Amino acid sequence: MENAITQLKFYIEQSQNILIVGHKNPDGDTIGSVLGFYGLLKKLNKNVVAIFPDEAPEFLKWLPFYNEILIFDTHEKKIIEFLSTVDLIIGLDFNEKIRMGKIAEFIEQINCNKAIIDHHPYPDPFFDIIISDVEVSSTAELVFRFIESCQWINTIDINIATCIFTGIMTDTLSFNVNAHRPSTYITAAKLLSFGVDKNDIHQKVFYSYSEQRMRLLGYALHKKMKIIHEWSTGYIWLNKEELKNFCFQKGDNEGIVNYPLNIKGIKLAALFLEKENYIKISMRSIGNVPANEIISKHFVGGGHLNAAGGEEYNLSLEDTLKKFESILPLYKTYLLEK
Ligand code: 5GP
Ligand code: MN
Repeated sequence: MENAITQLKFYIEQSQNILIVGHKNPDGDTIGSVLGFYGLLKKLNKNVVAIFPDEAPEFLKWLPFYNEILIFDTHEKKIIEFLSTVDLIIGLDFNEKIRMGKIAEFIEQINCNKAIIDHHPYPDPFFDIIISDVEVSSTAELVFRFIESCQWINTIDINIATCIFTGIMTDTLSFNVNAHRPSTYITAAKLLSFGVDKNDIHQKVFYSYSEQRMRLLGYALHKKMKIIHEWSTGYIWLNKEELKNFCFQKGDNEGIVNYPLNIKGIKLAALFLEKENYIKISMRSIGNVPANEIISKHFVGGGHLNAAGGEEYNLSLEDTLKKFESILPLYKTYLLEK
């Protein structure tokens, strides 16, 4: 990885027009990483454009630089124009090119240097330079490590630090998940020293529910959560009508999937949302239960061992739930392990 870091630093120094891209359905880690990197490159006097396939959820739109980014869905022409002049493309927080959505086709055709900084397992070598570490809390933490290795730490300011801190904070659910390594806290401490207001970020990210979102959560837990104790599994499912009734907004599902894990003995949790022409699945697990393998083998998608997501395109919501229940015995050794 040290080689990849040196190489990317060299490419950044040599490049003028740089594109930074995050993944679709952007979460706090991809957004914090992209915006932090964007702020850094601007201060290094680069002509930089930051893009996402689609918009951020409301609770992340307050982040510094968010109003400077381009969304592919609405700025396709401008982005394609910039691509014709681009020297370097940097992807943050994804390990498969399909996570970039439609923009992937255009990026593939461009002949320039391309790099990825990411913490997902099994990175697909679709870009030349891969800075990947699965043993890190978040891509944002890895971005910070990259900046430190390049000796650009003095370029960091409160805005850049706020973006990176938010990436770490959201991906670890406020330092609760995948946050057992000292390095995460050392990084967080360094970021705080730039003046980051942790309480303010926490307030904006976690205490920003609309009334409807809170009531949807209550409804989901009360009426739509099935607990299968014999398989140490719990899941929640919501159909189109329910989502409409609660005025579902992008990001309103954030966090719901984790709740079944709060029940003693539950090791695997899933959330199924009925979308227009597919079922969106989120999965979380504890210990060795491989959420990413369950998704990638039986649905379309992937992710980390304990946090994965994907889609089911061919079945109704009801049949997706049946399929999910029917595959649980395949994971008996993990689910029944004491
Ligand atoms: P969430 O359940 O919050 O949507 O996603 C949890 C994690 O699963 C993400 O951080 C990402 O690593 C992964 N993930 C979510 N959706 C997809 C998907 O469609 N494809 C892949 N490969 N990974 C996904
Ligand atoms: Mn992400």
